[in-house]
Amino acid sequence: MHSTIDRLAFTYLTHLRYSGRPRLSVRDVAALRSLSDPGPRSASRPPVFQQTTRPAAEPPPRQTTAPAVIPSQDSWQRLEEDLKDCQACALARQGRKTIVMGEGNRQADIMLIGEGPGFDEDRLGRPFVGKSGQKLDQIMLAVGFQREELYIANVVKCRPPGNRNPEPGEISICQQFLQRQIRLVNPRFILALGKFAANFLYGESGAPRTLGSMREKILHYGDIQVVVTYHPSALLRNDSLRRPVWDDVRVLRNLYDTARQEPLRFPAELKYPVVQDVE
Ligand code: URA
Repeated sequence: MHSTIDRLAFTYLTHLRYSGRPRLSVRDVAALRSLSDPGPRSASRPPVFQQTTRPAAEPPPRQTTAPAVIPSQDSWQRLEEDLKDCQACALARQGRKTIVMGEGNRQADIMLIGEGPGFDEDRLGRPFVGKSGQKLDQIMLAVGFQREELYIANVVKCRPPGNRNPEPGEISICQQFLQRQIRLVNPRFILALGKFAANFLYGESGAPRTLGSMREKILHYGDIQVVVTYHPSALLRNDSLRRPVWDDVRVLRNLYDTARQEPLRFPAELKYPVVQDVE
């Protein structure tokens, strides 16, 4: 177990990472890595992006910013208990009405990850039920996925006031819950909606990546294949993102159909390259 000092240091280092300081020093990174060592975990699913082409014995995959608070014997019940009335960050005291854990098929092949609850989600206690949720449902239906087939969660479980972006400290405090959800669902694919979800999964120390640098590639989080796309709320604001989002979800559909050995719904040539690096 890490001490409170460790956790404070970890939160501070994570804050540096997001606060515009372009790169942490080598020493910061080493400290961050040692604090974020998640300890023993299933060998098959380290929560890191890695190159699809990288042979298994190659350099160790990138580390996430996970603190070592994930129980080794986890369950949905335990997760719900741990989240219940969570007071771990300031969002608990900034007008939150409901903790929005996530919902859907707990055995889903596909998990969708958003940013955090908005006004409607906070009121109803469910993810993606407002306007961006309707848009998301439309997008997924367009490639033949019903909402009930999927599991949907967010990077942070409580609404940031005024729908502001979640802050680095809030993300790092909340991250264990999403990591645990990913482990429990154990999906084959993740669709990362927007830069917070994508950066959460990427998780390397250093400045956050732009969405553009992570799109149009098949990334990996352990052995889960990850497609990154724009957040549905960006699509609501900017209609020109329709085409790229459509491409992303068709690629996801093709990956899914391929894994299930079913005929592709979309042309085989619609493929994203295997990544060498997301830089
Ligand atoms: N935006 C998100 O990122 N998540 C939600 O649940 C709703 C809106």
